[in-house]
Amino acid sequence: MSRDMGHQNRNNYGFAMDVVEQTPTPFYYYDMDVLHKTLQEIKRLIEGYPYTVHYAVKANGNPQILNTIAKHGIGADLVSGGEVTAAVEAGFKPSDMTFSGVGKTDREIRIGLEYGVGCFNVESIPELEVINQLAGEMGKTAHIAIRVNPDIDAHTHRYITTGTADNKFGINLEVLDEVVCHAIALPHIHLRGLHFHIGSQITLMKPYVMLCETVNRLLDHFEQQGISFEMVNVGGGLGIDYDAPDEHPMADFASYFGTFKRHLRLRPGQRLHFELGRAIVCTCGSLISRVVFVKENRNKKFVILDAGMTDLIRPALYEAHHTIQNLTSNNIDEQETYDVVGPVCESSDVFGHDYQLPVTRRGDIIAIRSAGAYGESMASCYNMRQLPAAVFHSNH
Ligand SMILES: *Cc1c(COP(=O)(O)O)cnc(C)c1O
Repeated sequence: MSRDMGHQNRNNYGFAMDVVEQTPTPFYYYDMDVLHKTLQEIKRLIEGYPYTVHYAVKANGNPQILNTIAKHGIGADLVSGGEVTAAVEAGFKPSDMTFSGVGKTDREIRIGLEYGVGCFNVESIPELEVINQLAGEMGKTAHIAIRVNPDIDAHTHRYITTGTADNKFGINLEVLDEVVCHAIALPHIHLRGLHFHIGSQITLMKPYVMLCETVNRLLDHFEQQGISFEMVNVGGGLGIDYDAPDEHPMADFASYFGTFKRHLRLRPGQRLHFELGRAIVCTCGSLISRVVFVKENRNKKFVILDAGMTDLIRPALYEAHHTIQNLTSNNIDEQETYDVVGPVCESSDVFGHDYQLPVTRRGDIIAIRSAGAYGESMASCYNMRQLPAAVFHSNH
């Protein structure tokens, strides 16, 4: 898609080139029009259904991004006390918050109870007991869901699959009955429902169909024992197309919500909750950098950027691929093969191996696309580098 081709300040990849050229690199460029369109599409697809979407703040906690999402009336999914506080400050309603994570500290649980988060997603019996105890001490009732590990392989990278029986997340199916009964018996706990999250960057619908079948089976199972739930939370994980950011500037929300509409049998009065991170913020963000040097070793040409793994660690951490574009030169008749690397003193500081780009020169501006999720939020100061800046662009 060549968005806003007619707009004179936008180049053929949709960037406002005056902004890109005037901002010191490296920095994150957020196209807020893309974020708005994404949020509107989600709202359109869930309208009329008993669905609530929560934004997984860990994907991108930039205050301006959080403010924008909160204004669209979406909830928040949080994994630390710091995120709970940031979400409250950004304007998310505590009752629309879910608090996840396998290792919530007492201090973090108290923060959640103090604000009155809508649901703690509880991942173990010890956590259940500590939340019950702390809620009792504070004179509160903790609203919780039990995170179930449904043993479904999401067919994604091994570091971002979370729903198989041998990883640390959730409660295994064999002990679920026991944990549910335990939760119901605790005096300061209100069990709202079951929670699932099977992994991230999931682009096939099959794992979600399997998740729906597991949920249906569990709801039947508990109903037979006289236990009903007011809600089910199916987590997030919807992936985006990292290879074609201009053709597919949005995740396939229609297929995603359509899968749950078709396959999950909600009971009367029950609400279905989603926790989407990547799919909401990924495509609106790009990491913009400049070429410091182009150098040749015996067999390779290297493009060395002023952005590195400290700004965007996904390639080094998950072997992730991002589309790389030269915004200064788009002469596709004159191409070269490069390794596109950062300046950090690690061999894994590589954004692209054997990557085809127009002939690239020192000073050219390079965009690393689809970097809005798990980019800025994972940035570090390794090598005593500065954290990347952020600019926000909108035509409206
Ligand atoms: C990270 C996370 C999410 C969001 O995952 P995405 O792949 O970004 O959609 C949702 N729920 C929980 C519990 C998470 O840990």
